[in-house]
Amino acid sequence: MTDRSSVHIVGAGIVGLAAAATLQARGHQVTLIERNEPGSGASRGNASGIAWTDVAPLASPGVWRKAPGWLLDPLGPLTIRPSYAPSILPWMLRFMAASRPAAFKRSVAAIAALNAEALPAWERLWADTGTGGRLRLEGCLDVFDKPGEVARARAGWKLQRDHGIEVRELSGAEIREMEPDLGPSVVGGAFIPGWAHLDDPHAMCLDLERVVRERGGQILRGDVVSIVGTDGGALLGLHEGPVVHAEDLVIACGAWSRRLAASLGEDVPLDTERGYNITVPEPGVAFRRFVMLAGYGFVMSPIARGLRIGGMVEFAGLKAPPNWARVDALVSRAKRVAPALSVDGGERWMGFRPSLPDSLPVISQSRRAAHVFYAFGHAHHGLTQAAATGELVADMISGKDPAVDLAPYAVDRF
Ligand SMILES: Cc1cc2nc3c(=O)[nH]c(=O)nc-3n(C[C@H](O)[C@H](O)[C@H](O)COP(=O)(O)OP(=O)(O)OC[C@H]3O[C@@H](n4cnc5c(N)ncnc54)[C@H](O)[C@@H]3O)c2cc1C
Repeated sequence: MTDRSSVHIVGAGIVGLAAAATLQARGHQVTLIERNEPGSGASRGNASGIAWTDVAPLASPGVWRKAPGWLLDPLGPLTIRPSYAPSILPWMLRFMAASRPAAFKRSVAAIAALNAEALPAWERLWADTGTGGRLRLEGCLDVFDKPGEVARARAGWKLQRDHGIEVRELSGAEIREMEPDLGPSVVGGAFIPGWAHLDDPHAMCLDLERVVRERGGQILRGDVVSIVGTDGGALLGLHEGPVVHAEDLVIACGAWSRRLAASLGEDVPLDTERGYNITVPEPGVAFRRFVMLAGYGFVMSPIARGLRIGGMVEFAGLKAPPNWARVDALVSRAKRVAPALSVDGGERWMGFRPSLPDSLPVISQSRRAAHVFYAFGHAHHGLTQAAATGELVADMISGKDPAVDLAPYAVDRF
């Protein structure tokens, strides 16, 4: 059929699935290897934002003004579980380095470059696969309940405008005109009309899974435990399974990618920022737009199955059980801005964002094995950047010049 390589992809989250569909469109035969159900990781329950209008990394000079207050509040927007503090220390030191002004500027440029491709790449993928029906172009409201926070948010809005993103600052009354279920505590904010979201991130995964299968792709159940690079490809060791030969291999295991990179001798400082949410079928409020409460570190996202309220960042690794008190805390904060909100019948969820200290993903050829490619670490932007990442992975595999300079996302940048 083609002289294109056959590509194995480990991990069938949104990044692996988008890469698979893009590679198929470019003539590759693809096989996804997934140890659970496709789309069952972080890609299942996220807030569904195509957040291409965000350009600021978490690692920013301003984070150090807010972080001490947050860290002192065990249910605040950003916490470190005490038992995980020693493990996360090296990551935090790199995070501090990435927050310095010059490094922050580099991260902003790299996020903006990738996010500029994010929605166009999704549009190309939706057009090719016929799966674009989930897009909602309603924009996003950034809202605050403290005048001081509105003033502080202006620097972030300026940064967005500097990147050509439209941001309209609004008073509390103007915000309530747009979303009458926001209460009188909202004192101001901004409308970002370009922001987009999907009606269901999990359903998006399942749509792509279906197309990949229909186009002859295989999805194998297996837990990959080791990788060895060879002259003509790579060998994958599966837990209680056979050794699989791949001509080209993509590692898209989200927050679990570190161990596989390490098996090739590449030490990537990947950790997880755990996030929490609750999805309420009948919330008693009706938002048309995505509502962000940046001051509290969470969002309210109107999706097909109701209102999804969540966010937060918790450093506690991949093994600790969820702390559901975090969901209760964010619900009580959400009720302050949306007094009629009810969370009866809500479904709680926790997910593992795959995060590097500089808030940039790894989209890179391995330095140890020429046929191995990395596509992980998208942190808060994995849904947003999945289609663009898929295109960049396909470019790397075929030796085509990528649309975005890949140097900032290199695996050996740390
Ligand atoms: C609360 C919350 C809200 C969020 N909101 C947004 C948002 O609005 N917009 C946005 O863009 N992003 C958002 N994100 C981030 C986004 O969800 C992630 O960046 C994205 O889902 C990562 O996708 P992924 O495919 O890399 O990882 P995952 O979806 O986690 O997929 C990785 C897959 O790899 C599999 N796997 C792992 N190891 C192996 C192995 N050894 N062998 C075989 N399979 C393996 C796993 O089972 C899993 O299915 C949010 C995240 C959270 C937690």
